[in-house]
Amino acid sequence: MLMEECGIFGVFLENKSNTIPYIVEGLISLQHRGQESAGIAYEKNNEIKVYKKMGMVADIFSNGIVKKINSHIAIGHVRYSTRGKSEIQNSQPFHVRFRNEHFAIAHNGQIENSEKLRNELEEKGTIFLTESDTELILHILIKNLSKNILEWTLKDIARTIFKYVSPSYSLLLLFKDRIIAIRDKYGYRPLYYYESENGYFISSEDSGFNFLNPDYKNIKEILPGEAIEFSAYGIKKYKIESNKKRFCFFEHIYFARPDSNIFGRNVHLMREELGKLCAMENPIDADIVVPVLDSGFSAAIGYSKESKIPIEMGLMRNRYVGRTFINPNQKDREIGVRRKLPPISPVIKGKRVILVDDSIVRGTTMKKIITMLKDAGAKEIYVRIASPKVVNTCHWGVDIPEKKELIAFGKKVKEIKEEIGANTLGYTSLEGIRKILKEDYNNYCFHCFMEVHDEL
Ligand code: SF4
Repeated sequence: MLMEECGIFGVFLENKSNTIPYIVEGLISLQHRGQESAGIAYEKNNEIKVYKKMGMVADIFSNGIVKKINSHIAIGHVRYSTRGKSEIQNSQPFHVRFRNEHFAIAHNGQIENSEKLRNELEEKGTIFLTESDTELILHILIKNLSKNILEWTLKDIARTIFKYVSPSYSLLLLFKDRIIAIRDKYGYRPLYYYESENGYFISSEDSGFNFLNPDYKNIKEILPGEAIEFSAYGIKKYKIESNKKRFCFFEHIYFARPDSNIFGRNVHLMREELGKLCAMENPIDADIVVPVLDSGFSAAIGYSKESKIPIEMGLMRNRYVGRTFINPNQKDREIGVRRKLPPISPVIKGKRVILVDDSIVRGTTMKKIITMLKDAGAKEIYVRIASPKVVNTCHWGVDIPEKKELIAFGKKVKEIKEEIGANTLGYTSLEGIRKILKEDYNNYCFHCFMEVHDEL
C-alpha cells in the first residue's frame, strides 16, 4: 500500500474568532493523507507559535490543548514521511524567526530539485535543522527577498518560489496577519479554498470543508501556478502561466477521500468508472465480487454494476488495528495485513471470487489476501485491478518504492499472477483511462504506470 506525503489546512477568521477547533476538524478530515505526525502554526501576540507532535490528530489535540490556544489565523499539517525520517524534527508546520519577525510553512508534495538546492544553499553557509525538503523553501525566501519579512508581497513570495522550487508543492505560508496558499504550475497535488461569511478556509481536499456544511458554490480550486493571499483585506491573487498540467492520477485511484472532488471529478464516481472499465476489459464468469476495503470499494461497485455479478463483503476491515503502513518497515506491514483485513469465511467458501483492488505496488498485501481467502475456502480467485501496472517510482510526493521493489516492474501479467497466487489477473489499461478522461487525459501524470527511462 502507498502513502501520500501530506495534507494541509488553513483558516483565517474575521472578528478575531478562534480558528483552532476548525483547524483540528480540518486535519481530522485529512488524516488519510498522513498519520505519522500533525501540527498547527498560529499567531499569538504578534508572534507565530507551533504545536506539533507525533501521532494521530485526535490523540495529539485531545489533551485540552485546543482550549488553551486561541488564534484567528492558523495553518495545520498532517504528515507521512517520504523525504526525511518520521521524527518530530521533520514534522510540520515549520516555523522560522528572522530579524524578529516570524513565518511558518506547511507543504504537501516533494521538491524535485531539492538535492541541488540544498547543496547550493549549504555551499553558501546555510545550516539546515531538518531533513525535510520543505525547509528549503524557508531558506530560499530569506535568501532572495528583502531583509524585512513584513515587506514581502504576495507577488515577491510567489515569484521566488515559482522561480527556484521545482514541483511538486501545494503550500500554505502563515504570517501574523495573512495566509498565502501556493500550488505549483503543474498542479500535481490538489488545493482548495472556501470563502465563508466568517472568513477563509484552505484545504488539500474539498472534503475537508464538509464539516462546515459549506455553501458549495463558494468552494474554489486554487489553480496550478496560482498563489492566493487571505487576510483582513480579502483575497489577492497572483498567477503564472501553466500550459502543461500534471495532476497526480493516484489521487483518483487511491489517496483522496471518496467524497472529495479532485481535479474536477468526484473521486468515488471516478473509481466506480475505473471499476466498470476494468470489468469491460477483463470480463470473467464468477459468483461474487469482493472489494479490498477501503480503497478498492468504489471500483468493486463499478465492476459489480458492469458485470452484473453481486458485490459481497468477503473481507472485513478491522478499524481498530491502525493503518498497517504507518511504520515504513516491511515486516510490520506483513503482519498488519493479516490483522487488518480478515476474511469472512461463510461469504467466500466454495465461491469463485473476483477480488477488486485499486492498485498493486509491492504485491505483499495482495499475496497475503489471496492466501487468506484460499485458506478460508475460496474456490478460485480472479484478481482485478482498477489501474494499470505500477512500474515506475514517483518523484512528486507519493511513496512509491524503487522499481526493483515493484512487483510489476519488468514482468508480464502472467508472471505477476503466478507470484501473487491468483487464478487470473487483469489490469485496467491506460488506453481505457484515456477514453474516460477524454481531452483531460493530457492534464494528468501517469509516470508511475509507464516503463520509461527516469530522466531525473
Ligand atoms: S508518478 Fe504516479 S504517484 Fe507520482 S505524481 Fe505521477 S501519477 Fe502521481
